[in-house]
Amino acid sequence: MNDVSPSTVILKHASHAQPVDFDVTIVGAGPVGLALAGWLARRSATEALKIALVDAREPEDSIADPRAIAVSHGSRMILEPLRWPAEATAIQRIHVSQRGHFGRTLIDHAEHGLPALGYVLRYGSIVHGLAEAVHGSKVHRFHSTSAAAPTQEPDGVTLPIETAGVTRTLRTRILVNAEGGLFGDQKQGKKADKDPAENGTRDYGQTALVGTVTVSAPRPHVAWERFTSQGPIALLPMGGVRGAEYALVWCCAPEEAARRAQLSDDDFLRELGAAFGDRMGRFTRISGRASFPLGLNAVETLVNGRIVAIGNAAQTLHPVAGQGLNLGLRDAHSLADALSAEGPTPLALAAFAQRRALDRRLTIGATDTLARLFTVDFAPLAIVRGLALTALEFVPPVKTALARQMMFGQRR
Ligand SMILES: Cc1cc2nc3c(=O)[nH]c(=O)nc-3n(C[C@H](O)[C@H](O)[C@H](O)COP(=O)(O)OP(=O)(O)OC[C@H]3O[C@@H](n4cnc5c(N)ncnc54)[C@H](O)[C@@H]3O)c2cc1C
Repeated sequence: MNDVSPSTVILKHASHAQPVDFDVTIVGAGPVGLALAGWLARRSATEALKIALVDAREPEDSIADPRAIAVSHGSRMILEPLRWPAEATAIQRIHVSQRGHFGRTLIDHAEHGLPALGYVLRYGSIVHGLAEAVHGSKVHRFHSTSAAAPTQEPDGVTLPIETAGVTRTLRTRILVNAEGGLFGDQKQGKKADKDPAENGTRDYGQTALVGTVTVSAPRPHVAWERFTSQGPIALLPMGGVRGAEYALVWCCAPEEAARRAQLSDDDFLRELGAAFGDRMGRFTRISGRASFPLGLNAVETLVNGRIVAIGNAAQTLHPVAGQGLNLGLRDAHSLADALSAEGPTPLALAAFAQRRALDRRLTIGATDTLARLFTVDFAPLAIVRGLALTALEFVPPVKTALARQMMFGQRR
């Protein structure tokens, strides 16, 4: 993005001796930090606040990110006032099954009276769209700028930032940690001494292989989640000619992932076909192969004085249910609500933490259960899984409640 943002001007005048003051400083311009900046800049109660947004990267860097993200219909509703990318592919039906065992369930948009259950977007297109929405607002953007450890004082937080070898200081009333990151790269939360779904870390011993595949018999707008003995395979519709392009997320043991990463495209596609089955014919092409380590890393408390964590910085999830970004966007939206109502104060952060507790617990718990229950290769568990999928099919209220939690979460 070629622009001279307000941050460029401020940086010229900032020095060690003269910290620059802000009301709210957001560290991390990933999708969650950007969405928060956008909502704060647009609300009448918060538009007068002085907001800083700091990121180690440029928005363009996100274009290279190979992730495709399933954004729920609920997330679309809150993102739309900011920016909704035209290239989103609608998911109208989700087909969930397990390889080699009975049990399957279908979730259809028509059952919920919605135009779509969710939408598939590239990570880069979400970030780029939101960066454009923030561009031109009064948010002071510091790109190619790393934030170091903050120091908290009774009336504010001091944050050293570094741009091209020059260190400067920001002073802020509220600091939002939206640094995100991936499991394995992050500082790990506490080792779980209680249920990790509430606080802690769980290494699932899995890696996600991602890429864009083409199939010979596409089912446009259908997303697939197929549980195999090694981990789930998700195929998300990405459009393309005849709707034949799908984003692949193939979770398997790290050593298997390392072996598969070395395979030729043809061999990789053959193994994928053997694992997924032939419900969409043959896999004919793959591009953009990459891998991501998977685990749960959740902080115990979202708020520490004037510092608050949202998005992946608060909880990093297994992608099995496509909930990480959706939950993070609800964090950001709820924080914007709290700052609008209470102003940039610790009181607002306390209210925010209280409102987010239930949604976090349910979403982290459901994702953790799915990741564990559906990835163990143990025959009795396969029967339990089959029964669970069948029960979902025949007990509509349970299926509806689960689908609505995945689409809308709990927003208060
Ligand atoms: C394979 C895979 C598939 C996924 N699929 C889905 C899905 O279908 N649906 C879904 O909802 N979620 C999905 N997720 C999860 C989703 O990608 C994350 O939840 C989401 O990206 C989190 O956004 P974020 O803004 O919190 O963090 P990030 O996207 O990690 O962004 C953090 C930003 O902070 C910046 N930063 C970090 N540290 C500093 C610092 N010290 N100073 C300055 N800047 C800093 C980084 O440069 C980055 O721009 C998936 C994840 C994976 C790995």
